[in-house]
Amino acid sequence: MKYTEFDLASDFPNEAACLSWLVDFLYPNGITCPKCQRITKHYPMRKRRSYSCGICGHYTQPLAGTIFYRSSTPLTVWFRAIYKITATRAGISAKQLERELGVTYKTAWRMLHQIRDIMNDDDDEPLSGKIEIDEAYIHADTRKRSSAQKRYGRNGRDGHGQILFGMVERGGAVKIRHVRSSGVRVLAPAIEHSVTKGSVVYSDDYGSYRTLKKRGYEHQTTNHSKFQFVDGDNYTQNIENVWSHLKRGIKGVYRHVSPRHLQRYANEFAFRYSHRNDEQPMFYSLLEQVKKDATSS
Ligand SMILES: [Zn+2]
Repeated sequence: MKYTEFDLASDFPNEAACLSWLVDFLYPNGITCPKCQRITKHYPMRKRRSYSCGICGHYTQPLAGTIFYRSSTPLTVWFRAIYKITATRAGISAKQLERELGVTYKTAWRMLHQIRDIMNDDDDEPLSGKIEIDEAYIHADTRKRSSAQKRYGRNGRDGHGQILFGMVERGGAVKIRHVRSSGVRVLAPAIEHSVTKGSVVYSDDYGSYRTLKKRGYEHQTTNHSKFQFVDGDNYTQNIENVWSHLKRGIKGVYRHVSPRHLQRYANEFAFRYSHRNDEQPMFYSLLEQVKKDATSS
C-alpha cells in the first residue's frame, strides 16, 4: 500500500498530532493514573509531552519507555525519519538523513541506530514451512575492532569477514543474525530458536547443517555447483536474493559497516523484507515496533 510523504504530512501536521496519535496508540484503553489507581481521562500539558490526570492532576509521561522519551528531537522529525527508513529500498545513511531532515549528523546517526534497534524480530513468531538458510560473509570495516571481533573475526567459512546467518521462509519473513562463527554450535541453536521443528530446511551441503535431520527438521541440500540446474523445490534462491540485496545496500549506501553495528543494519534489511507485503503502510508497522519495544522494556 502506497503511503506518500504527502500522506505523512497530512496525517501528522505538527507535534501535537504526533503526540496524541502515539498516546492513543500506546494506551488504547486510556492512561491509568497511579494516584487514582484507575484509568482516568488525561489531558496534554503545555510542558513537553506530559499529560495530567483530569481528576487529581497527577502528571504522567506517556512516552516513557519509547525511543522518543528522552529525545529532544521533535516527534515530527522522528516520524519523518521512520517514514524515510520504510520508504527506501536499499537503506538510508545518516548523512542522507541529516540532509533530508535538516538535523545534525549526530542526531541523524543516533535516530537511525535507535530505529534499527527496534527493527528487531525478537517478538515475532518462529519461521515455519519451507525455510532456506545460508551464511553471508561481509567484509566489514575492521579499523575499529572490538576485542570480541579480534577473537572471532577470523573463523568464517572462507577464513575472514563478519558472518551473517540468514533464514528465510518462502513467501514470508527473513531473520538475520550476526554470528561470531559459522560452526554448528552457533548455527544449530540459531535455527532451533527461529525455525519451527518439522519445517523443511533447504541449504547447501555445508558441514554445520548436517545435524538438522537429527534436530527434527526435514533437510534438503542443494549442490552449489554452477552446472547444476534448479532441481524442483530444491533451491535457495530467496536467501541468495536477500544477500545480494543486502550486500549491494552496504556497498552503495553505507560504504562500510562497523562490525559493532552489523546486526542493526541486518535488522533494517530484514525488517523491510519481512514487512514488504503488510496490508498497512510499512510506516505503521514500524510504529508498532515502537510499542513492542516500550512494552518489553
Ligand atoms: Zn489521578
